[in-house]
Amino acid sequence: MIDNASIESLKNSIDIVDVIGGFIELRKAGANYKANCPFHGEKTPSFVVSPSKQIYHCFGCGVGGDSIKFVMELEKLSYPEAIEKLASMHNFSLTYTKGSSDYSDAKRVLEAIGQWYTKNLNRNETAMKYLLDRGVSQGSIENFEIGYVPSGQEVMGFLQSALLPLPQAAEAGVIAQSENGQGYYARLVERITFPIYSASASIVGFGGRTISNHPAKYINSPQTKLFNKSRLLYGYHLAKESIYKNKKIIICEGYLDVVMFHQAGFKEAVASMGTALTTEHLPMLRKGDPKVILAYDGDKAGVAAALKAAQMLSVGGFDGGVILFPDGQDPADLIAKGQSETVARLLREAKPLIPFVLEMIASMYDLRDPRAKEAAFGAVKQYIDSLTPIIKDAYIPTAATLLGLSPSFFGKETQPARARENFSQKRDDVAQLSILKTLIEQPSLIDNVLSVIDVDMFGEYAGLFSSLIQGESEHPGLVGLSVDESFEVMSESELNTALRSFLMKHYDIKLKNIAASQQIPFEKKSFLIRKIRTDIIPRLKKGELVAYDPNI
Ligand code: ZN
Repeated sequence: MIDNASIESLKNSIDIVDVIGGFIELRKAGANYKANCPFHGEKTPSFVVSPSKQIYHCFGCGVGGDSIKFVMELEKLSYPEAIEKLASMHNFSLTYTKGSSDYSDAKRVLEAIGQWYTKNLNRNETAMKYLLDRGVSQGSIENFEIGYVPSGQEVMGFLQSALLPLPQAAEAGVIAQSENGQGYYARLVERITFPIYSASASIVGFGGRTISNHPAKYINSPQTKLFNKSRLLYGYHLAKESIYKNKKIIICEGYLDVVMFHQAGFKEAVASMGTALTTEHLPMLRKGDPKVILAYDGDKAGVAAALKAAQMLSVGGFDGGVILFPDGQDPADLIAKGQSETVARLLREAKPLIPFVLEMIASMYDLRDPRAKEAAFGAVKQYIDSLTPIIKDAYIPTAATLLGLSPSFFGKETQPARARENFSQKRDDVAQLSILKTLIEQPSLIDNVLSVIDVDMFGEYAGLFSSLIQGESEHPGLVGLSVDESFEVMSESELNTALRSFLMKHYDIKLKNIAASQQIPFEKKSFLIRKIRTDIIPRLKKGELVAYDPNI
C-alpha cells in the first residue's frame, strides 16, 4: 500500500492548476481558471478550477473534486493508480508499506492466472472447438488473450504451485472463501475466459463463458477494489486508439461481439459488462468525443436496453445511433458468416438516437385510441423536454408528426431542463446566495445566522442551506457556490446588514400576504400588521437584528 504520509506530502506538493492544466487548456478568469469541461460536451466553458481551494467544479454537469479525483475521473483510474500517476507526472517518489491489501499483489495474481488460462485453452478441445465454430480466429484469441479455466481443483493447484498467496487471489476475485470460512474455492470453473482490462490497460478481472451448459451462460469476476463493473467497458483498452482516431465507439452486448467486431476491422467496439449502460459509463464514453453507436440484438431484451441507453445518451448530449440486429442474429454471427459488409452497412445506416427514442416510445401506444395517444404525448413530451433547447426545437416537428399532433402541443417555451446550478444567472437571489456563500467560508457563523432566520425562509435554496448546516461540504451546489465569483464572502458586519435587509424583504412580503389573507381574523390581522409596521421594521431599520418570529 502507498504510505499515507507520502500521499499527504504528494498532495501538498502539487497544484491543481498544474495538474488539470497538464490535461486540458485552462484560461485565467479572475481568481479562478476556466475551461471547456472535459467530462461533458460543451462549447462555452463552465468548468472552473479554484487555485485557492485546490478544487475543480463544473456548473454544466456538476462534477467536482480535488486533483486526485480529477485524474481518477479523467483517466478512469482507481485511487492508488491516480496517486501513482500524479507522482510520476511530478517526479515525486512515493513510499510503500507492506500490507495485505496491496493492490500490486492482487494484480500479480490476475496477470499470472490470466497467462495460465491462455495456456489451458490449447489443451481443451471443447473450448477451442467452440471458439472456432463461432468464427473466432487464432489472431483474435491471442489479441483478446482468450483462455480456459479448468476445474476448481486445478485452479487451487496452480495458485499453490505458483506460490500465489490465497488472500490476495481472493482479493483479486479469482477465488472466494467458502461459507464455513475453512478454505477457498475457485469462482470461475470450466469456462472460456475473457480477461477484462481497465482503460489504462491493466488487468482487473475476468469474464467466463460456460461450455458445459451451466445455466449461467456468462459469469464475471466479482466487484473488487480493482474491478468496478459498472464503469468499465470490455475491450476499451484495445479500442481506445480507434475511438479517438475515428471519433466513433460501438457498444455491443457481449464479449464475443466485441471480439468479432474487432476481427472484422471495426476496432471501436466495446461492451458493457453484463449490465446495461449506465450514467457511470458516460465520462468514459465522452473521452475523445466519439459518436456512440449502440449495436444490440433485436430481441425484446435488446430493444429495451437500446431504448434506455439511447434515451440516456441523447439527454446527456451525445451524438450517435442505434442498430438492432434482426431475427436473433447477433453481429458475431453475421461476421462469422462472412457478412462484414452487411454489418458495415448497418453501422452506416444506424438510426440516430433521438428519432429512435421517439419512434420507440410512439410504438408502445395504440395511437388510434385518444387516451393512449394522450399518454404517448405525455411520455414523448417528458423525453423531449429533457433535451437542450435547440435540440428540442429541432425535433418537435418529428415528434408531432409521429403522434399525429400539431407541433403547438409541445409549446414554444423552451427552457434548459438540465439542472444547472449556475447561480450568477439568478441575480434576484443575491441576498440568500451571498449569505450561503459566506457561511460556506465561515461555518462558525452558522449558529448566529440560524438564531435570527429560519432555513425555510430560503425558499428554493432551503435544501442547499440544510446541506450546509449538515456539513455536506461536497454537495455540488455548495461547491458550485463556493467557486462562483459573482458572490463575495461578507464580513460579519456585512453579513448582519444582509440579514437585516433579507428580513425586511421577508416582512414586506408577509405584510402583503397578511393583508390579502381570507383566513386570518380581522383582529389578528390588525395586530400582526401593527406589530410588523411599528415594531419589527423600525427596529430592523435602526440596525437591530430582530430574530425571525415563527408566529408572524
Ligand atoms: Zn461538465
